[in-house]
Amino acid sequence: MARRRDRGGSRDVEHAGRVTHSGCPVRGDDRPCLPLNRVTRWPVAGGRVTDHCTCSCGRRFPTSHPDAAEHLVDPVEPGGAVAVAPGVSATWSIDEVRPFDAEDDRAATGVVPVETEVLHRPTSLVGEVTRDVKALAKHMVKVMHRAPGVGLAANQVGAPLRMFVQVHKRALPETLVDPEVRATEGTWTYPEGCLSLQVEETDARLVRPRRIQVRARTLHGDVVEATLDEVVARIAQHEIDHLDGIEYVQRLTGEDGERVYEVMAADGIDTSWLPPTPY
Ligand SMILES: [Zn+2]
Ligand SMILES: [Zn+2]
Ligand SMILES: [Zn+2]
Repeated sequence: MARRRDRGGSRDVEHAGRVTHSGCPVRGDDRPCLPLNRVTRWPVAGGRVTDHCTCSCGRRFPTSHPDAAEHLVDPVEPGGAVAVAPGVSATWSIDEVRPFDAEDDRAATGVVPVETEVLHRPTSLVGEVTRDVKALAKHMVKVMHRAPGVGLAANQVGAPLRMFVQVHKRALPETLVDPEVRATEGTWTYPEGCLSLQVEETDARLVRPRRIQVRARTLHGDVVEATLDEVVARIAQHEIDHLDGIEYVQRLTGEDGERVYEVMAADGIDTSWLPPTPY
């Protein structure tokens, strides 16, 4: 997902009778930090399960905070030995990724543009995190920061694997492997753009679920279950859609959808790659 928002200023604000020293740098608009996201983590090596809440900016809050996010569905204990579903990583090689400096007018450097097949079909479960999977994650983080973007899916660098990276790593692990959406709630409108669609005037305000609960694994093999809100939930949904072969424009409806599809067609994009897929 492309970076679309300037960071907000900071001023004293009052929220629920409490004065906070400044607005949250990520939420912007002088809104205070809140415990919007909650992440439970079961370490692969055993040991203490952690459970914490953060604002979008990563500021920590105790889970006992009155505004702390609750899980949308109960987290399911993964058990002592974390079972990893069989995936394709055993036979997949980092050599298959698009050359790092590949350039295309319609995508950020090193990112595949729309109309590339790998972007328009569902990715495969990763399974075991191999050395090549770790190398892929490192490559994706580099491409994301260089773009610059706030999130990137593996198929955006040409790897048909179910994993994504994102920048809010104090709120959610930077790399999520085999993410699965377990629940959604509400609706929220937020502007989106995409590193695979660098065509002017294709950004649009998009309505998606506001909160989601996601289960995934980290590169270390820990199982995480996260309830996410606002921008972190939005980035995760944009990237998980990529992993399911869906570009954000396919979620647009009404006049915004018509406008963006006209802009893409005028730019020579074959929009039959992008069949509307509204919620
Ligand atoms: Zn904050
Ligand atoms: Zn509150
Ligand atoms: Zn995207």
